[in-house]
Amino acid sequence: DNGLSEADPEVRAIIDKEKERQFKSLELIASENFTSRAVMEAVGSCLTNKYSEGLPGKRYYGGNEHIDELETLCQKRALDAFHLDGNKWGVNVQPLSGSPANFEVYTAVLNPHDRIMGLDLPHGGHLSHGFMTPKRRVSGTSIYFESMPYRLDESTGLVDYDMLEKTATLFRPKLIIVGASAYPRDFDYPRMRKIADAAGAFLMMDMAHISGLVAASVVANPFDYCDIVTTTTHKSLRGPRGGMIFFKKDPVLGVDLETAINNAVFPGLQGGPHNHTIGGLAVCLKHAQSAEFKAYQNQVVSNCRALASRLVELEYTLVSGGSDNHLVLVDLRPFGIDGARVEKILDMASITLNKNSVPGDKSALMPGGIRIGTPAMTTRGFTEKDFIATADYIHEGVRIAIDAKSKAPGSKLQEFLKHVATPEFPLIDRV
Ligand code: PLP
Repeated sequence: DNGLSEADPEVRAIIDKEKERQFKSLELIASENFTSRAVMEAVGSCLTNKYSEGLPGKRYYGGNEHIDELETLCQKRALDAFHLDGNKWGVNVQPLSGSPANFEVYTAVLNPHDRIMGLDLPHGGHLSHGFMTPKRRVSGTSIYFESMPYRLDESTGLVDYDMLEKTATLFRPKLIIVGASAYPRDFDYPRMRKIADAAGAFLMMDMAHISGLVAASVVANPFDYCDIVTTTTHKSLRGPRGGMIFFKKDPVLGVDLETAINNAVFPGLQGGPHNHTIGGLAVCLKHAQSAEFKAYQNQVVSNCRALASRLVELEYTLVSGGSDNHLVLVDLRPFGIDGARVEKILDMASITLNKNSVPGDKSALMPGGIRIGTPAMTTRGFTEKDFIATADYIHEGVRIAIDAKSKAPGSKLQEFLKHVATPEFPLIDRV
């Protein structure tokens, strides 16, 4: 039984290079984190060998007594980690990741072409919340359901709840989705609940980005207002790559969510659960109940505030003016530079973050902003002073990007490129 180095030195070498890249860079992607050795051990265990379609006690395969024990433990820890009463809330820990979890909810509570409303992607929402462009239904969610995204108030950078309310009254969605991939503020859940009730809609929160902060009670609690809560498990929660769906046990709008959601996961959209992930998730959810985890999440938020303040001192414009959570969204347009160029320059300097659209942007490929998150480097022990230094290094990178842009070949190159993009220079069949 050979180890990886012996069995496959090629893959071993790639993993080693990736580990070194992670170790030597400043990881500021808001959706990433470093999970624990204990989680990794469970993920890399024999649990990956087992088929267990179904739920604990109701499987389609034999030999599942230990897997049943594991999944039941994971479910219990999930409810405990989010301070939920098991008589009122249930959870499915089998979703393979965040996007499948969301689609499983839609499959459970909607019929094809039912109407949904989620935050628009260019305003911070996630693809799986129904993203579409005027030309194309990009996400499966917008292919199978009728999506009418809501947006931010561009003057404040906050969700435009008034406009959402007006639109929901006319559009009458069956599902309203709260949650985002790039929103630096907390959500007004009572207001969202009111809007959903008036429209006769289910209210779902996708807390993927902030689930660690929710577990540690450092942001508002979506469970007090929503019918369904989905999450990834690998972002601020710091677990393995996976997903979970929490649902109210009492019927909502006449739907037994427990049955509908469990059936949508399996056999609706998935086959056998990834038991190694469920093992890793159970470990993560044990960590999530510790005092150390709460201190970590508080540090994530304090670090983000320190980062935001320093960026403001350096005269950056932040969408919404600051941050209540683990990320800041920087609008680079006042500096005359875009997020794509800055991402590229910082990448060369081992600072990893991502370009991000900001309200008012025209292009998703050349968006005007960058998203910076604090969960990963906080796991590695960064405190406020380290994030202040990080802001200064980002600033240096932005200055280099601005300088490089000013020296780049200009309009003559654009003319030349137009000439190159003609049949005179075909992509294929030249010879
Ligand atoms: N939901 C939100 C809010 C996200 O930000 C993401 C991913 O970034 C997802 C869902 C999708 O998760 P996954 O990439 O695991 O499918």
